[in-house]
Amino acid sequence: MATLSPLLKQATPVVVDHGQGAYLYDTTGRRYLDFTAGIGVTSTGHCHPKVVEAAQNQVGKLIHGQYTTVMHQPLQELTAKLGDVLPTGLDSLFFSNSGSEAVEAALRLSRQATARPNIIVFQGGFHGRTVAAASLTTSGTRFSAGFSPLMSGVHVAPFPFAYHYGWDEETATDFALRELDYLFATGTAPHETAAFFIEPMLGEGGYVPANTRFMQGLRRRADEHGILLVIDEIQTGFGRTGKFWGHDHFDVHPDIVLIAKGLASGFPLSGIAASKELMAKAWPGSQGGTYGGNAVACAAAAATLDVIRDENLVDNAAARGTQLLEGARQIGDKTPAIGDVRGLGLLVGSEFTTPDGQPDTATAQAAHKAALQRDLLLLTCGAHMNVVRMIPPLIVDAAQIDTALDIWADAVAEATK
Ligand code: PMP
Repeated sequence: MATLSPLLKQATPVVVDHGQGAYLYDTTGRRYLDFTAGIGVTSTGHCHPKVVEAAQNQVGKLIHGQYTTVMHQPLQELTAKLGDVLPTGLDSLFFSNSGSEAVEAALRLSRQATARPNIIVFQGGFHGRTVAAASLTTSGTRFSAGFSPLMSGVHVAPFPFAYHYGWDEETATDFALRELDYLFATGTAPHETAAFFIEPMLGEGGYVPANTRFMQGLRRRADEHGILLVIDEIQTGFGRTGKFWGHDHFDVHPDIVLIAKGLASGFPLSGIAASKELMAKAWPGSQGGTYGGNAVACAAAAATLDVIRDENLVDNAAARGTQLLEGARQIGDKTPAIGDVRGLGLLVGSEFTTPDGQPDTATAQAAHKAALQRDLLLLTCGAHMNVVRMIPPLIVDAAQIDTALDIWADAVAEATK
């Protein structure tokens, strides 16, 4: 009998039968409050009726209209709809299937458009698992160990992760910008640097928001040196942070934006957006793929955008996110093992730390497990997997947040007793 690879580790033993809204139901009928949302994917909740309807209608009409062979309506409709929400001037789109592929497409575009070889990433960033994307990833060595050599031309600058350094945000930001300038003098000259790749909030790296001064510092240096600012919104986009884009918190404008996850409510769909002028600088033939812009995925994505707008999900993410962050902070304040609670919108992380300031992976894992036993699904992240993260769907309501916080308080109490 065939089995799944032993390398594929599941965070929970749950065998799911179906999902509805913020809940998953296992094969025995047990109901779980799902604060993982498929790693930030099912933003409209599981099986939102409008998304289901759009996908079902499309399945009966056309499933695969290979987009370098023919054009199809769902792709046209989605492209037009994205035009209403993308940052100003980023009016040209390329679609692919996974986040990693979008990262790779942005990497190709950055190098081709600038004719420069090097990329600067920020420590703790996660950009994917394919070899080039893994080369840009510094959120944990598990994503790149054992298959070196990785792609060359990648330089790593610090992210203003104040809690990690044990500094306040101003000091961490000064340090990160100073080190970036030092990197220009020591590692990659500005005129050899094609792009900055950055998440507006470290995701897999531990749920650490960037800040306005840092992001604007990147923008200024990008403008000064002709470097592209590539913002990876794969986890933070589509309302997840309580604003439509994660970078909207920092009043900064990207040259390329990367999209996936929350875009299509669970269908594999990703993409990059840039200005037409920038896109035109990439080499002909450098964009394509068999499955990109799949018709069912595009129909689901167009419906997802409608649901986000019609149900005011960005505002809901902001309001429920404040409720979740404040509640998690209250629990953190009472728990010495929780050193920091941070987040933006419906991305909230609690970092577990030992009394001598070391990452406390064991207690984080115990709290995660105790929550699962109480029917609350959570995930961990961070370089040491010592941050427990909550990522509910954007349709989550106040009562569900309260329930999750009650369970979390009990789970933390059990893990730390
Ligand atoms: N970038 C970010 C910010 C992500 O969070 C992820 C996935 N966690 C990726 C890229 C890679 O996406 P995928 O797993 O779909 O390749």
